[in-house]
Amino acid sequence: MQKLQNYINGQLTDPIGKTYIDNYDPSVGKVYSLIPDSDERDVQLAVDAAKAAFPAWSVTPKDDRAAILLKISSLIDKNLDRLAKAESKDNGKPVSLARTVDIPRASANFHFYATGILHYASEAHAMEDTAINYTLRNPVGIAGCISPWNLPLYLFSWKIAPALAAGNCVVAKPSEITPMTAFLLSELCIEAGLPPGVLNIVHGYGHKVGSVIAAHPEIPLISFTGGTKTGAEIARVAAPMFKKLSLELGGKNPNIIFADCDYNHMLATTMRSSFANQGQICLCGSRILVERSLYEKFKTDFVAKAMKMTVGNPADEKTKMGAIVSKQHMEKILNCIELAKEEGGKILCGGERVVLQGENKDGYFIAPTVIEGLPYDCRTNMEEIFGPVVTIMPFDTEEQALAYANSTPYGLSATVWTENLTRAHRLSGKLHTGIVWVNCWLLRDLRTPFGGVKSSGVGREGGFEALHFFTEPKNICIQIKN
Ligand code: NDP
Repeated sequence: MQKLQNYINGQLTDPIGKTYIDNYDPSVGKVYSLIPDSDERDVQLAVDAAKAAFPAWSVTPKDDRAAILLKISSLIDKNLDRLAKAESKDNGKPVSLARTVDIPRASANFHFYATGILHYASEAHAMEDTAINYTLRNPVGIAGCISPWNLPLYLFSWKIAPALAAGNCVVAKPSEITPMTAFLLSELCIEAGLPPGVLNIVHGYGHKVGSVIAAHPEIPLISFTGGTKTGAEIARVAAPMFKKLSLELGGKNPNIIFADCDYNHMLATTMRSSFANQGQICLCGSRILVERSLYEKFKTDFVAKAMKMTVGNPADEKTKMGAIVSKQHMEKILNCIELAKEEGGKILCGGERVVLQGENKDGYFIAPTVIEGLPYDCRTNMEEIFGPVVTIMPFDTEEQALAYANSTPYGLSATVWTENLTRAHRLSGKLHTGIVWVNCWLLRDLRTPFGGVKSSGVGREGGFEALHFFTEPKNICIQIKN
């Protein structure tokens, strides 16, 4: 069975403790590879390597750093098919999704920041004829990057690329549930000629590796994407050490549909925003609010489409709905559906585990699930489920829709469907979220700020926001006249 290795100081290495964690293929429910069960000793080796690499990497000319990152990007492109298949097997996502979204986006992340750093300028502030201030933007040092399992290589590279472009060295931990493409990336980094120690990838559990990175005194900056509870724990540990923190956390996003929307476009997009990646995207619109005059028609059409969505083997090119990432997560989602029933929700479709035939008979599959009849403030409508489960609710007025939308502790994104431009602007301004999509969903321009408010996180990624985060500004004031 394949044994993955850590990537430390430019080498693929076994964990010091020589112990491993089982890695499951969720579409068949079986172990197919082993992941290093690293501990604080492996993290320390990674930190030592990063520390040794930092003096040279931080002053390597931007063009040279960019050239290596571009090489990594082109190697990802060259290995598109292999990486897409690996991501699909490791995560359970349809291979077509990995091939068209996850892996191209990982390549784009490296490409974007390789070129972005060349255009990144710092500021100067003249004080008439008295003085001139100029601001240097220096790399911070060693960046700790911790990422989740839902978009494994996509989110891993979204942190690593700007950190490296800005001149930092990195100690990174992918989710131990989906480590494969991060491992394959380490091979590509070696091939691309990334100097030893610049990027170090330590595999293992959150409580044994992630927590050590978060608490490490020589790692002054943590970029974390994951659950809100874990984010709070990282903040608790990191804040007294005055670390720079970027936390991209959970969501419970409203999808607000007005009767005047472009109906067919809305319906097709709402299918994606509800069920893409089995609903395991932090940006999925899990609370669908529909203007009452459109509610019955929407319900009929949406449920009919959801029932037609076939759940299947993720490796099959035609599959649109693959496996849930793990048995534990499948059970969590099924418990959430039980809670929805207890709260008085009516299951319009789905609501249960799907048992496939043949090699996928033990895989973790759940049918697309649509629930109605729940109050906006019940637990099902307040807590993140992170699966192929949405609730639908009618509303009567714009004010009511806004109140429902803003009622959760989360504030990551919202979607608004209306052809009324004034209403679109008005509502977008009042939604308590970091991102609003009007008449679209997941339309991404990598230059834009990305992140949430309230329990959805602290700080922003994307564009120059990420380069601001991964650099430390230093102002220098020079008096011209005394
Ligand atoms: P978790 O918070 O469980 O884990 C995220 C990462 O943190 C994993 O690598 C995990 O390791 C690690 N970790 C766990 N405990 C600690 C700790 N004490 N200290 C440091 N690291 C730790 O999230 P999931 O992997 O379950 O991801 C799903 C969550 O991510 C959802 O809530 C989703 O909304 C959110 N998310 C947010 C996004 C955003 O941009 N806002 C985007 C995508 C997802 P291990 O796997 O070993 O537990």
